[in-house]
Amino acid sequence: MAGKRLIIPFFLNQEGCVRRCIFCNQHIISGAKKTDARSGLAETVAAYLATAGSRPDRTVQIAFYGGSFTSLELSKQNEYLRCGQQFIAQGVVHSLRLSTRPDSLDQDGCRRLQAFGVRTVELGVQSLNDRVLAVCNRGHDAAVALAAVKLVKDQGFETGVQLMLGLPGQSRESFQETVEKTIAAGPDFVRLYPAVVLRHTPWELRLGDADYQPLSLAAAVEWCGWALKVFKPAGIPVVRMGLHPSDGLIAPGNIVAGPYHPAFGELVKSYLFREKVIDILGKLVLDRQSRLEKGRRISVSVGLHRADVSAFVGHQRANLPEYCRRLEGIDIGWHVDRRQHRGEFACVANEGRLVDHCSVFS
Ligand code: SF4
Repeated sequence: MAGKRLIIPFFLNQEGCVRRCIFCNQHIISGAKKTDARSGLAETVAAYLATAGSRPDRTVQIAFYGGSFTSLELSKQNEYLRCGQQFIAQGVVHSLRLSTRPDSLDQDGCRRLQAFGVRTVELGVQSLNDRVLAVCNRGHDAAVALAAVKLVKDQGFETGVQLMLGLPGQSRESFQETVEKTIAAGPDFVRLYPAVVLRHTPWELRLGDADYQPLSLAAAVEWCGWALKVFKPAGIPVVRMGLHPSDGLIAPGNIVAGPYHPAFGELVKSYLFREKVIDILGKLVLDRQSRLEKGRRISVSVGLHRADVSAFVGHQRANLPEYCRRLEGIDIGWHVDRRQHRGEFACVANEGRLVDHCSVFS
């Protein structure tokens, strides 16, 4: 997705949903109140544009999120789309985007969306494992979801896939298989959401059952880190990891259980940095130590892109004690190195340079 983009979200609060997915409570996730399409959208767009200001190098999209847009009655879809189209006609918005269920799109529907200025379609795929889809009451199988990705791509939309991890009935293997099938389907971008148990959901009522336990935060970070490392070389950007901390979501009692963290994406990047640095330094320094006198300590400074320092030190500097604990005999520090790109680092020891460029994604 080239260029800067302002996305103005307008939440549908499960409008159009023909069934209730076991994990879903969009009223909590969005924190948005139900409003009239016309006035609500106008207010939302005006508020976003006023805060973000105007920038000539930026494209603006209105996004219809939090429901099953293409399952709405046609008259309701058209009402929303016409409202959006008016902002395009005024020149303040460039295009529309929406999220929807994979089983509610066909070729005619795609053409109609295009005619209204929709450029991006995000499919709530969640899993590509039939059993997980059934347990979650999705109402369609993986083949339907893959066919929808192909249709949306073939129709020329920018295509997004939303995946969840830690769903009821989902194993690590089935999540990995979902990621691999998603890569093969070739969307333009993905979003990764660790599944959390929300208040007033069918999942909440099943929490006592063994198959319905959410992931721990550590496991969710690790699964997501693995996925990020696989999507990256496949050229598929992960544009979001973790739920947005809306007022509704973080209100007391709304998250019943599960791996929620307001800075989940940062935790994943910090995890990847920590594990790669420890892996590389563990090998390189051990090798060097074996050639030096026993027991001698080695000082190493890790060279980082300026924007990666926080990922290296970790959320609330949690990585630093881990480096000390797991890299015995190494005094570790860091410096900003202009030669490093994002996600890369160099290691410099007091005896000389150990490694020039190492990617946390490889
Ligand atoms: S996950 Fe999507 S399709 Fe399922 S209930 Fe929520 S908004 Fe509707």
